[in-house]
Amino acid sequence: MLDDVRLHQALIGQPGSRARLNTPALVVDRDALDRNIRRMADLARKHGVALRPHAKTHKSVDIAKLQIAAGAVGVCCAKLGEAEALAEGGVESILITSPVVAAPALARLKALNERMRDLAVVVDNPANVAALAAVVTRPLNVLIDVDPGIHRTGVPSAAAAVELFKVIEQHKKLRYRGVQMYCGRQQHIASYKERTDAISERMDYLKSVIAALKAQGGAPEVVTGAGTGTHHIDASLGVLNEWQVGSYAFMDRQYAECDLANQPAVPYEYSLFVDATVVSANTPGRATIDAGYKAFATDGGVPVVLSGAPKGSVYQFMGDEHGGIVDPESKHVWTIGDSMRLAAPHCDPTVNLYDAYHVVSGETLVAIWPITARGRSR
Ligand code: PLP
Ligand code: MN
Repeated sequence: MLDDVRLHQALIGQPGSRARLNTPALVVDRDALDRNIRRMADLARKHGVALRPHAKTHKSVDIAKLQIAAGAVGVCCAKLGEAEALAEGGVESILITSPVVAAPALARLKALNERMRDLAVVVDNPANVAALAAVVTRPLNVLIDVDPGIHRTGVPSAAAAVELFKVIEQHKKLRYRGVQMYCGRQQHIASYKERTDAISERMDYLKSVIAALKAQGGAPEVVTGAGTGTHHIDASLGVLNEWQVGSYAFMDRQYAECDLANQPAVPYEYSLFVDATVVSANTPGRATIDAGYKAFATDGGVPVVLSGAPKGSVYQFMGDEHGGIVDPESKHVWTIGDSMRLAAPHCDPTVNLYDAYHVVSGETLVAIWPITARGRSR
């Protein structure tokens, strides 16, 4: 049977092969990816902050290894399944940034901790601390997750952090390493000034939590947080000593609409694309492409049309399999088979829809990387 994987493998190294991919295809521009990885690594180094990029964005052993080669100390994973997949691929230092609670997951966490050099998990509840201590066979690193104010996960106050620290200290098999506070809501505030004010207020709160812990003998060695939207501001606030930035590697429409460029740092560029093909074009000024709800995550608005359409053309979701492209002048006539390139509205959940990255350099397919931890959400 001829399948895409074999057809695409045969294209590797052939000049111009990007245009011959079957679509919709998730495409990574290797050169742009490398630039993003390097810019972030340079910035973290310059500020003396450890870089632990969040692998929830890419779920890829190949990309995790590029980030580590550029200077990252390891990666973060959102879920245990993601951590297992990346550890299997050779990533040796992982922080799991959500609590691991279910009994089957605890058994797997114990096994993962036995075969990894450096595994850490966040905790926000004394019963979970006791459950972890009961299951692990060798010391496990734990960090206290601090609620940034959205009541998703994390201890709700400085007093609760101190209480949890005391519970952790009772367990010989748990090694208290520090605190995590990821301010998700603040990341996407479009205005640089408003984002700065909002994250400064949150970091003042984190300082008060750290002071309370210190006063009880719980000075955190690791203070981890930050995302693509605030890391540069966090650098000057100086509270965090580890960044868990994720989206910067790829960028997406949500972040492109943020005023990242108005920072002294070099902004990040799109390195992730969905390539699509015009499959119907019977109405002037409109085309239908083969990329719909199953090709893009839909939580962040519509994809950006980057090429293959007149300037100002907009995407409309037209169901599971299709997208409509509308020329603002209602004139352009497309031909079936025309190709189009789009940027995802939200990179992380878009990646999880695909099996592989088609890695290009210029117009040439240079590699196919599996999305190692695709679907590993438990
Ligand atoms: N840390 C945690 C806990 C996250 O949930 C995320 C993303 O959602 C990140 C870090 C990465 O943030 P960003 O994609 O904004 O860089
Ligand atoms: Mn995201």
